[in-house]
Amino acid sequence: STTHFGYKSVPAEQKVAMVADVFHSVAAKYDIMNDVMSMGIHRLWKRFAIDCSGVRPGQQVLDLAGGTGDIAALFSKRVGANGKVILADINESMLNVGRDKLRDLGLINNIEFVQANAEALPFADNSFDIISIGFGLRNVTDKDAALRSMFRVLKPGGRLLVLEFSKPTHDWLSKAYDLYSFRLLPFMGQLIANDKESYQYLAESIRMHPDQETLKQMMAAAGFAEVSYYNMTGGIVALHRGYKF
Ligand code: SAM
Repeated sequence: STTHFGYKSVPAEQKVAMVADVFHSVAAKYDIMNDVMSMGIHRLWKRFAIDCSGVRPGQQVLDLAGGTGDIAALFSKRVGANGKVILADINESMLNVGRDKLRDLGLINNIEFVQANAEALPFADNSFDIISIGFGLRNVTDKDAALRSMFRVLKPGGRLLVLEFSKPTHDWLSKAYDLYSFRLLPFMGQLIANDKESYQYLAESIRMHPDQETLKQMMAAAGFAEVSYYNMTGGIVALHRGYKF
């Protein structure tokens, strides 16, 4: 079925343009909306992802679909002066908000910003110890191509972390969550960001995203080994981890 926003029925090029519009439109209010919509819990999800990354001082990290930089900021503190974090995102508006925010936080020495499409990463093979993609993969049109591209630029021994909305593990939670995301979320988007449609898209993109087991299989198909996942908040969010050997 199609919706007002038409997300479910559009061809690939149109999805790319639509995702670009959504993130240009939400960039300025992105951080406050995240806090409001998740009641601050997104901060815990992100912290947990970093804790599971095994990151060490001196490492090279790629934070893909890094947006306004929450995850890159956490990594930057962990890799220290001898390490490096590259925040890559396809969207200039999100990158600009992220760059300003991280500068304000004084995090400038070990972070670089790159405008890039996850499907065709502009980095050499075997470049990174860790790649993270937080709430980004569901926006990517060709997810398999993106996973293969991530595998290519990861060093042997490196790991990929995919933090993403997923499938609630209980029926009642699923129903409550649907109600929340399809009714309340667009309403709050309208109220806070004056942008109902973008938040409608976000709700739809969450519903369409592969569930835990499907994503695990997709990662394995892209070459990742020992893929596992951890459900958070009843499966509303899952953290997938896989290795390149
Ligand atoms: N990682 C940040 C966080 O967790 O707060 C931002 C997540 S935001 C929901 C999704 C981001 O994915 C946006 O900044 C968007 O521009 C980016 N994005 C969408 N499609 C992309 C693609 N094909 N390649 C790289 N980034 C993409």
